[in-house]
Formats: sequence, C-alpha cells, structure tokens
Amino acid sequence: MENPYVLPEALIEEWLQALRLVQLNRYPDADAQSLKSRLRQVFDVPAGAEMLLGNGSDELIQMICLALAGPNRVLLAPEPTFSMYRIIADIAGLEYVGVPLRAQDFSLDLDAFLQAIERYQPALVALSYPNNPTGNLFDREAVERVIQASPGVVLLDEAYFHFSGETFIRDLDNHPNLLVMRTLSKMGLAGLRLGILCGAPDWLREFNKVRLPYNINVLSQVSGEFILRHADVLDAQVQQIRADREVLIQGLRGHPSIEVWPSQTNFLLMRVAGRSQSFYEGLKAERILLKNLGGSHTLLGDCLRVTVGTPDQNQAFLMALQKLL
Ligand SMILES: *Cc1c(COP(=O)(O)O)cnc(C)c1O
Repeated sequence: MENPYVLPEALIEEWLQALRLVQLNRYPDADAQSLKSRLRQVFDVPAGAEMLLGNGSDELIQMICLALAGPNRVLLAPEPTFSMYRIIADIAGLEYVGVPLRAQDFSLDLDAFLQAIERYQPALVALSYPNNPTGNLFDREAVERVIQASPGVVLLDEAYFHFSGETFIRDLDNHPNLLVMRTLSKMGLAGLRLGILCGAPDWLREFNKVRLPYNINVLSQVSGEFILRHADVLDAQVQQIRADREVLIQGLRGHPSIEVWPSQTNFLLMRVAGRSQSFYEGLKAERILLKNLGGSHTLLGDCLRVTVGTPDQNQAFLMALQKLL
C-alpha cells in the first residue's frame, strides 16, 4: 500500500540541504515539539486534543496496548481487519476478540458488535477507518454508536484518510474516549516511520509513559517537518492515485470472473473464484506482486489485494491479468 511516486528532484535537493544542518551528535527533542506543531496544522487537530508521535502508527498501537494490558483486558475489532491489532495485542498481553463483518459488503454488523461490547467490556476497540484489507468505510452512525457504547477507548485508525477524505478528528472534542490515529506512510512517506495519535490529554499522558524518550529520531523529525511544508506535492500524488483507482476498478469490472469491491483506500480487494492461487502465482511470474489473502480469514476466500500504482504499472497489471484469463 505504498505510494509509487518519489519526490521531485528539486525538492530532494532542498531536503538534503535541510539535513546538512542536523547535528547527529545531539539527542533529538524528546517531545518533537516543532514537528508536532506542523502536524497539528496540516492535520487540523483540534486545540483541545493532545498529540503523541510513534515510529510509525504500529508503534502507537503497541504503546496503547502496553498501557491498557492486564488480566481480562480485551481488544475488540471487526474482522477481517489490519493484522497488527491481533499481533500486538498478543504480544502486549491483551485478549483479542474479533467480530465478523457482513459477508457481502464487509460493513459493520452493528448489532453483533454492540453485543460483543456488552459481553467483553473491551478496554480497547480498534476500527480501521477505512478498513484494511477490505477498503471500505464503516457507516458513520454505526461508528458513533460504538464510541458511545464503549466502556474503554476507541481507536479510529485513519491510515487511509487521504484516500477517503472522511475523518472523526473533529469529533475528538465530543468524545473523551475517542482516539484518532494517522500516519504519513500511505501518503508517500512509508520509509520515514511517522505515526500520529490524537486524543484527550488525560489518555495520552498515560500512553506517553510507555513511550521510549527518543522514539522519533532527529532525521525523521527534520525530514517530516520539511516535507510537510510541501504537503501540496504529496496531496497532488494522492489525487492522482485516487483518480487511477477508479480507472483500475473499471478495468477489473470488465472481467466477469473477477469480483472487485469499491475502495476508499489506495488498494483494491478482488476475488477470483477458484483460481486465486494460480492467478497470484501467474502475476508473480510477471513480476507483479499482490497480497494473497486467501486463508487469512473465512470471509476472504480467493481474495487478492492489489495496490494502485502508476498508470503504467496499472496497465501492466491489467494486461498480465488479461493474459491469465
Ligand atoms: C499500513 C497501516 C498501518 C501502519 O502504518 P505505519 O504508520 O506505517 O506503521 C496502520 N493501520 C492500518 C490500517 C494500515 O493499513
């Protein structure tokens, strides 16, 4: 789910100039104040919310889980979803409970989810919004009901925000148990490792206790701040990817043996009934790598996930597909 584009040459030069001034012999600012204020501006974080930075949002999930773990503490999530919720819950010592999404469209089964909240009283609910690997957004009112019904915190993981345009960040003021998480990874800076958690100061102060002091290194701080000053460059790339996503969907819809779901992300979920494995291998032989989701969850039988690439890459994918069919 990486952005296939690099930065323009002139911007790379300017960035390298900024890096020259970095003193690697000094520890970074442990609070990354300067970067945080830039992020607050770019992401429109409400004044009443506090921010916590992670070495990617994976590290933020780890901090939250470490802080909330204990006997009989549950992380509740719909399934299928981002695999790191379960992996990190297991490592941190939270019990993981999954509630199946609806089979046809992967929407949230609100009744089942509310029942699970009632039964397990989860310390943490994790919702990927939009959801990975299904690509859809859950119904906004259903998410609000989940936030209201939850006795613990609700983490809205908005890793694909730039591809959906939908957010709960402005709801932070109304819900003290709401956390909104963003990342720079999917918008084009996956190598930088920068995740952003926003929420009530009382909660973030607790999560901050399990953060190691210099988790955001000085090169990431300076680079993040520099590139966010040129956020328009990344925005333009995101707009291009969003437009190409629709072209790719149209291309796939032309094949009767392929089922493809609508997407609010930079990837597509597709099903090739009975032939996903040979498809996956055939594409791999053409040096096109998809994510093979068959076997990862009962709802994802014969499913593959493909990232939207450049127009040339998308075309190569569609042509290889044509050949395999
Ligand atoms: C990719 C992804 C992440 C992880 O992002 P990093 O900031 O690169 O760690 C988090 N959540 C979801 C849903 C993702 O798909």
